[in-house]
Amino acid sequence: METVCICCPIGCRLKVEKVKDEIVVTGNTCPRGKEYGISEFTLPKRVLTTSVVFNSFTLTLKTNIAIDKKLQKSALMQIKNIKEKDYNIGDVVIENILETGANVVVTGKLKNV
Ligand code: SF4
Repeated sequence: METVCICCPIGCRLKVEKVKDEIVVTGNTCPRGKEYGISEFTLPKRVLTTSVVFNSFTLTLKTNIAIDKKLQKSALMQIKNIKEKDYNIGDVVIENILETGANVVVTGKLKNV
């Protein structure tokens, strides 16, 4: 597979392939790229960001760590079911979502107009 390392603004183009029992990364110019390439090949993860609209306000939310890309849709379904209450920025609205170890945290609260 080919991908772009997102660990720094340089954005090295990576080629990741399995050679025998080893995952080989080329195109990286530092060890972080190798680590990223292996992670993308074996278990790609992303920080999940989303928002939930209530009657009078909208919450913006994100996971505090990256979670498996395959779990993002299920995580969104769970987040959409949170109940309206007086949240503040930094509040954890869901702990250990889908047993990923990630918490869903309030990053913003906007008044609806
Ligand atoms: S491989 Fe290293 S230098 Fe290249 S984008 Fe990734 S972190 Fe940056």
